Amino acid sequence: MQRQIAKRKLDELNRLVLPKEVNASLNLKEKTVFNIYLDDDAGSIILIPDHENAGCILCGDTGSELLELGKQEICINCAKKINHLMEQTATK
Ligand SMILES: [Zn+2]
Repeated sequence: MQRQIAKRKLDELNRLVLPKEVNASLNLKEKTVFNIYLDDDAGSIILIPDHENAGCILCGDTGSELLELGKQEICINCAKKINHLMEQTATK
C-alpha cells in the first residue's frame, strides 16, 4: 500500500532526508544501505532497505570486514570492543 508520508525538497547537494516516521515504521538504523530502483514509466523512485548488506549490527559500518555472530554480522572493531569488555569482566 502506498501512502504519502511527507513532502521534501532535495538540498543543494541533491540529498533527501527521510522523515522520522519512515525510520520508525521500517525500523531503519543509521547507515542502513538501500537499493535504489527507478520506475521510468511511473516516474517513481523506489528505495528498499538492504538488510542483507546492512553492515555491522552494532555500529552500521559497511566498509570493514564483517564477522558472523549468529544470524547477524559485526565489524572487526566492534568484535575487539566486545572482546575487551569480556576480558574486563573476566578479571573482576
Ligand atoms: Zn561495528
